[in-house]
Amino acid sequence: MRTAVCSGSFDPVTKGHIDIIKRSAGLVDKLIVAVFINPNKQPLFTIEERVALLAEATRDIPNVEVDSFSGLLNEYVRSRGARLIIRGLRAFSDFEYEFQRALLIKSIDPEIETAFFMTRGEYSYLSSSGVRELARFGGKVTHLVPPCVEQALAAKMNRLQKETEE
Ligand code: ADP
Repeated sequence: MRTAVCSGSFDPVTKGHIDIIKRSAGLVDKLIVAVFINPNKQPLFTIEERVALLAEATRDIPNVEVDSFSGLLNEYVRSRGARLIIRGLRAFSDFEYEFQRALLIKSIDPEIETAFFMTRGEYSYLSSSGVRELARFGGKVTHLVPPCVEQALAAKMNRLQKETEE
């Protein structure tokens, strides 16, 4: 069985991510979408929230499983019986970071491969950080994220707003 792991922060998942997930899931038997638990970042959504949103947004793709992991990506990939990492590429700005990451992983674990999917033109400007910023200032995100994420963002912003008023 050919299994691949699509890793990321997904804070939150966007339509750009979903596009990469759908296209790569079509080429493997099983795609594990794995949310990285990064101790150095203060995310907007908790790990549990990000996993739940991904599960909801990918529920119509039968061979996708959503999980989370911490530690080294290559070790997680191996623990799931996979050897292939899927990442998305937007503009040139992604290239250097992704290039370094892929080579670093290769240097510690030569059997693990990283494959890149080029974004669709309409999502080339789309990032989780851009979505978070738009939502924070009340901008429309309907065209950028799955409906469940739009709702979750509105609820989160409402709660944060109430907390700052208290
Ligand atoms: P990370 O913090 O690991 O970069 P992200 O959640 O930001 O995690 O992204 C996960 C993967 O999805 C990365 O490979 C990133 O380049 C890719 N990605 C993010 N947004 C898009 C998009 N709009 N189109 C294609 N790929 C994307």
